[in-house]
Amino acid sequence: MGRFLTMSFLTELPSQRVLVVGAGVTGEGLLKYLNHIGVSDITILDEKAKSAAGAQVISSLNETNFDLAIVSPGWKLSHPAIEALKTAGVSILGEIDFAWKIKEEIAPAQKWIALTGTNGKTTTVQMVESILHAADIHGIACGNVGTTVIEALMNEKPFDLLALELSSFQIEWSTTAQFESVAILNIADDHIDWHGSFENYAATKLSLLHRTQVGILNLNDPEVALRASAWNGKKVFFGLDTPAENEIGLVENLLIDRAFSADAQSAEIIAELVDINPSVPHNVMNAMAAAGLALSTGISHADIKKGLAQFKPDHHRLELVLEANEISWVDDSKATNPHAALAALGSYLSVVWIAGGLAKGARMDSLIKRAASRVQSAILIGEDRELIAEAIAEFAPDITVHLVDKTGTAQELMDDVVAKAKEVAQPGDTVLLAPACASMDQFTSYAQRGDFFAASVKRAHS
Ligand code: ADP
Repeated sequence: MGRFLTMSFLTELPSQRVLVVGAGVTGEGLLKYLNHIGVSDITILDEKAKSAAGAQVISSLNETNFDLAIVSPGWKLSHPAIEALKTAGVSILGEIDFAWKIKEEIAPAQKWIALTGTNGKTTTVQMVESILHAADIHGIACGNVGTTVIEALMNEKPFDLLALELSSFQIEWSTTAQFESVAILNIADDHIDWHGSFENYAATKLSLLHRTQVGILNLNDPEVALRASAWNGKKVFFGLDTPAENEIGLVENLLIDRAFSADAQSAEIIAELVDINPSVPHNVMNAMAAAGLALSTGISHADIKKGLAQFKPDHHRLELVLEANEISWVDDSKATNPHAALAALGSYLSVVWIAGGLAKGARMDSLIKRAASRVQSAILIGEDRELIAEAIAEFAPDITVHLVDKTGTAQELMDDVVAKAKEVAQPGDTVLLAPACASMDQFTSYAQRGDFFAASVKRAHS
């Protein structure tokens, strides 16, 4: 980074040769920004990219004559192209740290808060955004959701606050950005195939704490509580029990703050359970994390209550598709790992469970052991369905298993799945699509999987 030390980073940038690594959502956001500030020499590296306005596109790195490389999440630090750039002495920044450098120059007073976790990131950061609106704060949720961080910086009237949702990939690439507070929602098996081991994945998530003084931490998640114990900042724990000092918790139907109130002995009401939608245990925890982040920036309890009450969850997160004949049909297609599926299954008493797809290296044993009492029957699809079938056979043999093969289109597969579910569901059951797996073996995305499910359900009831 030496060549940027003497002048402002931003003044130098337009005359630099800039390489954007990755042409996905982040790469597009970066390109938009670089064009916006007048960088004329932009190259994009992406194996699949065909063309991009305002940049030269390359599919492999044949030269390293760049001043700066800005890297999208999803590229490994050890990728040969990154190694080559490093060896050639090119400055390399992840998108978050690049945005941080820009922010420091154009909006130094803008505050950043951040959250990460295996599940609930999008829901929680959207709750935070809803709270910001309720509090009349000019802020936005960005990062691994909707708007990229760099695009959030392009807003004509600079935001006063950014709430960043960060994936483990983004955290791995970020070393300099600083946060008013950081929430760690939970840590469970996911993306293990990418990170190599659970240890690496968990350590990456926790490393975000080193960039803040205030940690909002899940008390009920042993991985979070244990791994955060060595960290020296202000720890605010949240959980579903009566809160002790420095905690956010639950007393009957009330969310209670014993961490940010002026007097440590006092307890203040943040909201009621009815303010949280849907009011199921894991989502109450999401609301607590959102409240903790908001409280760390000085937002009042009343505004948090208002923001939570106004919040509407995004599609494919425990989304009720239809109720008919006393059977509920619920789309939780976003449950792409066992931890999310466990939370979903724990939200209903009697479930016909639709699961399967790509397990990404995760194991299903613990999910089956813990959720068995809720599941009447399981309808399994996709590449790794045997993993689930085997775990059921070993730990919950009373669950009836139905395997459904894909013989035509993905929509037809869902038609077959829904027909089977309709056949086996009893009044009082919830038919729950919470696959515990990624979708890409049979669908283009979790959203398509959920949309096809909803379409099949509606057709089957029309
Ligand atoms: P992320 O952005 O981390 O993927 P989402 O809010 O999109 O999180 O939710 C992902 C999946 O996890 C959904 O299936 C949702 O129902 C489930 N989920 C949401 N919050 C939690 C939580 N706190 N613990 C476990 N699962 C959760």
